[in-house]
Amino acid sequence: MKNQRLGRLVLAIFPLQGHTTPMLQLGNVLHFKGFAITIAHTRFNPPNPSKHPHFNFLLLSDNLPYSDTSTTPTIYDIEGINRSCHAPLQEFLELQSQTADVPVVGIIFDSIMYFAATVAHHIKIPRLVLMTSSAGFEQTFRAIPRLLEEGSLPFQDSMLHELVPDLSPLRFKDLPVSNNNMNETLKLNDIASNMKTFSAIILNTIDCLEQSSMLQIRQHYNVPVFGIGPLCKVAPTLFTSFLEEETSCIGWLNNQRAKSVIYVSKGSLATSDENELTEIFWGLANSDQPFLWVVRPGSVSGSEWTEVLPKGFKEVIGERGLVVKWAPQKEVLAHSAVGGFWSHCGWNSTMESLSEGVPMISSPQFFDQKVTARYLTYVWKVGIELDGVLERGDIERSIRRLMTGMEGDEMRHRANELKQLIDDSILEGGSSYNSLNDLTECLLAKNLPEP
Ligand code: UDP
Repeated sequence: MKNQRLGRLVLAIFPLQGHTTPMLQLGNVLHFKGFAITIAHTRFNPPNPSKHPHFNFLLLSDNLPYSDTSTTPTIYDIEGINRSCHAPLQEFLELQSQTADVPVVGIIFDSIMYFAATVAHHIKIPRLVLMTSSAGFEQTFRAIPRLLEEGSLPFQDSMLHELVPDLSPLRFKDLPVSNNNMNETLKLNDIASNMKTFSAIILNTIDCLEQSSMLQIRQHYNVPVFGIGPLCKVAPTLFTSFLEEETSCIGWLNNQRAKSVIYVSKGSLATSDENELTEIFWGLANSDQPFLWVVRPGSVSGSEWTEVLPKGFKEVIGERGLVVKWAPQKEVLAHSAVGGFWSHCGWNSTMESLSEGVPMISSPQFFDQKVTARYLTYVWKVGIELDGVLERGDIERSIRRLMTGMEGDEMRHRANELKQLIDDSILEGGSSYNSLNDLTECLLAKNLPEP
């Protein structure tokens, strides 16, 4: 480990699993590069300091009216969080600038924690944004104000399958907005409008995977853009889960045939209702494939866990299926028994799957998931689209297509080619490897632009 006195970086985390994980991974990588790291976090879903003894932590009071600190903030909380966290971060940095022997050389903030850019500007230090989703999503999100202005939102139901002008290959149905909820769309518009000024942009992606979107981001912002992903590979051994991982499922996987298991997870936010859970269960049961299924506690409305499944469901699946509350997902996807991932298409899950050459069934629910699903199925061609109302027959057919058909074999082949590209990008001389070095050098040389 190099000495830790190259400078301190303050990393402002947004308190959702899919945002916290890549930021902690980035912190680990930059710590290894020689920086001291302070993680600035809210009261909600705080990272566990005992799992990251090499970081310092700064609690920012968010003033949200929830007493349960594992509450999931919604997009309606984002503005309040940004307002409340501003003063504590500014006070901390002002104190640091007078007293600290390791100077703060930059703030890296989650794009949703845009208040940090204003604070950094005030303190006169570089403000780097970490975009925790894909480059394709950034481009789409940035287009929301334009789409509203042009009157393209909300769109007519008849336009669902039409391509969105200037956002090819996305169709209207792939946009990260809820078409029937204009309040939410307007909130997203506010957030998009607040994300403007950065000294540099860091993306958890790989240049060769998202060439065109990366180019457009570079052209639009005209600041350094670092594609340093996949962070799950660049910083692999980090513990970041809010929930406890059921590691015993690895023992079950050890007893399955190579590439035979479909892994099923909807990530940390997406939910189901009773009917959907039942359809998923019968789809899995009827597919005749071994499956490892994550049902997150509280993810089914009106139920704590799997109570709504038919009585005796365990006998129906026998040894062929395993249901867990939370899995060690990266380990699962790296396991030789796993041949497919039925996913909600969160960006971390997608990166984790592609990094292991595992093709996917895409069932996006909201926001960036819809954009990513389109890239998976239409651009990278490593995913089968399964969206809308989930029904057991469609589920069974999709699983068979992916796990036993020729189409699935072809996708697995393409997914392996992508894995190779990803592996190459993080090796010496690869694009992510070089970008990470460039990022480190820019921070050390203090030559990031002042936008
Ligand atoms: N995850 C996990 N175990 C599970 C389900 C998910 O460790 O059983 C992790 C997964 O590896 C990923 C994160 O939770 O890193 C979910 O992030 P993602 O961006 O995929 O989706 P989100 O939860 O933000 O919708």
